[in-house]
Amino acid sequence: MVNLISTRDVNGKQLKYTDALLEGLAQDGGLYIPCEYPQISNEELNKLRGKTYPQVSFYLKDKLIGGDIPSGILKHLIDTAYSQPKFNSENSNTTPIRKVADNLYVQNLSLGPTAAFKDMALQQLGQEMNYVLDRDNKNLVILGATSGDTGSSAEAALKGLKKIVLFMLSPKVGMSDFQKAQMGQLTGGNIFNISVDGRFDDCQDLVKLVKGNPEFAHLGAVNSINWGRISSQVPYYFAGYLQATNSNSEMVDFVVPSGNFGNILAGYIAKRMGLPIRNLIIATNENNVLDKLVKTGIYEVTPSQITSSPSMDISKASNFERLLFDIVDRNPAVLKSVMEEFAKNGKVDLNKFGIREKLKKLGFSSGKSTHQDRLNVIKKLYDEAQTIIDPHTADGVKVALDKTRDIPVISMETALPVKFEDTIKEAIGFVPTREERFVGLENNLKGGAFHSIPIDAEMLKDYIRKNQN
Ligand SMILES: *Cc1c(COP(=O)(O)O)cnc(C)c1O
Repeated sequence: MVNLISTRDVNGKQLKYTDALLEGLAQDGGLYIPCEYPQISNEELNKLRGKTYPQVSFYLKDKLIGGDIPSGILKHLIDTAYSQPKFNSENSNTTPIRKVADNLYVQNLSLGPTAAFKDMALQQLGQEMNYVLDRDNKNLVILGATSGDTGSSAEAALKGLKKIVLFMLSPKVGMSDFQKAQMGQLTGGNIFNISVDGRFDDCQDLVKLVKGNPEFAHLGAVNSINWGRISSQVPYYFAGYLQATNSNSEMVDFVVPSGNFGNILAGYIAKRMGLPIRNLIIATNENNVLDKLVKTGIYEVTPSQITSSPSMDISKASNFERLLFDIVDRNPAVLKSVMEEFAKNGKVDLNKFGIREKLKKLGFSSGKSTHQDRLNVIKKLYDEAQTIIDPHTADGVKVALDKTRDIPVISMETALPVKFEDTIKEAIGFVPTREERFVGLENNLKGGAFHSIPIDAEMLKDYIRKNQN
């Protein structure tokens, strides 16, 4: 049985997977992480060669969950999560890699319903949550906030699930028509879209305000601090590795366009489980909190600026806490005091833990990219590899192109270009033809898809009260 502990719990109380799944953030403010990382042998890795993505995912999640969801049920949940036509997979390969330069591959994680890599983990999270709620005869009301991409991805994953009702706040200004239409078309049934007359920060503040009220303290969350989401990302790395190599004696490097540190953390866990990964390379945009952290050992909140890879616009990286827990030798008291200092001062010097040397030893390095870099890389890949990548993926590829590639490097494709046509046009001079499923999407935005409210917690509470059953 693989049990979980909170990074901040000095008593080290152990939880089962499904408890952590519904709880999300631990009550002490910490994040859940396995007591120990399950191991995968050379023989097991060989057995995964040639398997489909759902098969690889099932094998690894079964190990990570450690029996808390019966294997037969887990298999069914995963098959449902990645079934056609939700996943627009070619040759039923859910996460195909393609070569874009010498020893450089892009791994497509964005074939899901909203063309973003978040679909993959959220589809699985939705299935698992609904199963546990059904098992325990419970219902869950979720309140979330989105600046664009998470909203549609969560809604597509939770749409129609009988045990879950989702209220999603989004800012009235700032989202593209494409994003609005992606969300708007999912309104109805158990999905409620609420447009707040303010910015994304106002939406987040409203979520905090409402959840701080005892009547609404039970509201759930779907953000990437949920262990269920992180653990569903671990199989990406196995699937990519198995496609890029012929034998387990080969090593690969991964480059990950990073924001909240969820995706690359899953890569770290894959490495700790025994996957032959050499380096894990963090790619950031102009919001380079993580790049600075790796290079200086200082972790500092920096007000985020809006960029052309907006899903990586962060001021701090919540999931970094899970890696830091290992770096402080899994001492919850030390971790807790570090995170409290960080919360208080917005800054903490981690050099006292030898962080730079430790990160290096664990295989981490980093690089950053700018708007101009993104444009150049999109153009370069279009010209030289006849492929069009989105701006987030371009941040990763930029960092990959900057390094020597003596072994295969796999860079994660975290969204499809159709979501960011303005930037694509700026880079290559035209807007590529859309896939059938996205043609004219913006024109279908029906009136009434969004319920509009001012920045007013009382009005939000009323709306939830009226609609949560
Ligand atoms: C969320 C997101 C990221 C960042 O992923 P993290 O797990 O938060 O590091 C990168 N690219 C895209 C397109 C995203 O939506």
